[in-house]
Amino acid sequence: MGNDTEEKKTEGQILGEKLLFDIKNCWETVKSEEITELNQFARSYKDFLDKGKTERECISVCLSALKGRGFTDIEEFLEQDGRLRPGTKVYQNIRDKSLVFAIIGKEPVTSGINIVGAHVDSPRIDLKPNPLYEDTELALFDTHYYGGIKFYQWTAIPLAMHGVIIRRDGSKKIICIGEDEGDPVFTITDLLPHLAREQMQKKASEFVGGEELDVLAGSEPYKDAKAKDKVKLKLLSLLNEKYQIVEEDFAGAEIEFVPAFKARDIGLDRSMIGAYGHDDRCCAFAAFSSVLQFAGTADREAVLRGDPPRKTVVCFLSDKEEIGSVGNTGAQSREFENFIAYLCAKTLEPNQYSEFTLRKALSKSCMLSADVNAAFDPNFSSVFDKKTASYFGRGLALTKYTGHGGKYGGSEANAEFCQKVQAVLNRCNIRWQFGCLGKVNAGGGGTIAQFAARLGVDVLDCGIPVLSMHSPFEVISKIDLYTAYRGFTAFLAEA
Ligand code: MN
Ligand code: MN
Repeated sequence: MGNDTEEKKTEGQILGEKLLFDIKNCWETVKSEEITELNQFARSYKDFLDKGKTERECISVCLSALKGRGFTDIEEFLEQDGRLRPGTKVYQNIRDKSLVFAIIGKEPVTSGINIVGAHVDSPRIDLKPNPLYEDTELALFDTHYYGGIKFYQWTAIPLAMHGVIIRRDGSKKIICIGEDEGDPVFTITDLLPHLAREQMQKKASEFVGGEELDVLAGSEPYKDAKAKDKVKLKLLSLLNEKYQIVEEDFAGAEIEFVPAFKARDIGLDRSMIGAYGHDDRCCAFAAFSSVLQFAGTADREAVLRGDPPRKTVVCFLSDKEEIGSVGNTGAQSREFENFIAYLCAKTLEPNQYSEFTLRKALSKSCMLSADVNAAFDPNFSSVFDKKTASYFGRGLALTKYTGHGGKYGGSEANAEFCQKVQAVLNRCNIRWQFGCLGKVNAGGGGTIAQFAARLGVDVLDCGIPVLSMHSPFEVISKIDLYTAYRGFTAFLAEA
């Protein structure tokens, strides 16, 4: 406060500055030109969330962006041209639900690649294979939830129906009902408080059960005195009119009910974003955008003349993380490895490729496993360890280890690799903080890190702090999103 003579620092203050780890709020140090970029980035992200409410929709949005930036499907590329050269941009679409893409660097792939991985699936309500039924002239969809959710949070909110149905003739129908202003929406009903005396005595995990998440879908009977199940029939006739599907087609369909609302700014200062699916689309969007930083232009000749990254940079957007990274679109599948094998085989001289070169490339590679972290919540402070929790506004949260009950089942990054990442972030003036998930024995969780580690890759979990994680309306801070994006870019360029 307007004091001309600067107060002399005490010995203890000087020592404190030297020895203590200083975690600051990023808003206090951010430059004004960065705020413009940060807000633009947040707007693009909200648009991404509104267009990508399922893993398939996210991958489809990413694929069109990649094609616009001169990326080639690796299969097509291999047909046209046998070699991948520095600056070449390729992707592999893994069954429309997962995606891996790369920009070839100047150094050989066998000296290691820099990877950022995140997942694009989010907790939700899936349809069962034989979902549609009628009870007391109400039609309902029977569901099976996906991922770890608190059931009661998904009742009494507007839901949209997204997904794909493959018809008997093999043609694919893309379903999306509830996102346009004029669309109807769906909902899961809840019990009125007046009759909930018994329900309110139950444990939260039981007062709405997994089988009580059926979605209200219709109530108007088909006009025909002799027909059976008339409300259900009416709905099937509407679906048939719109999508030419019949009831049998639901058997293998992938239909997901997700919150029907759009991403919104939160707070008077608009410093946060509330939306469905931040876990883990905020990290996926930041990872995707960071690799595009190295993409140059869409003009292939210009890219070949341009300056490719030093190391090959790769982004992996995986599916099925919320249910254990299983299946051939999950991070446990060998599809990711197959892509790296392609990169090795097609960047090396003919006949130089062997299984050994792939293994060597993987064990020399390093990766940020980018996934959200539980932000410290003043409403529920008792489950957090304040010293190692992540906080809104403090930047990229680094999670040395995951797991539960004595780190069991978690992936722990090596000290050397942790330091390498911290050094890159410090050098590039990117704020980072700790991100341990809750107190010891409060619970736990995992990410895709362990599956990369299994391949020999050095991997560290890191990500964006989230409030209300796995709820229909999760919250993040805009500055943490932007800091993650800058951190991933620095890692890809410098690690
Ligand atoms: Mn996640
Ligand atoms: Mn999750």
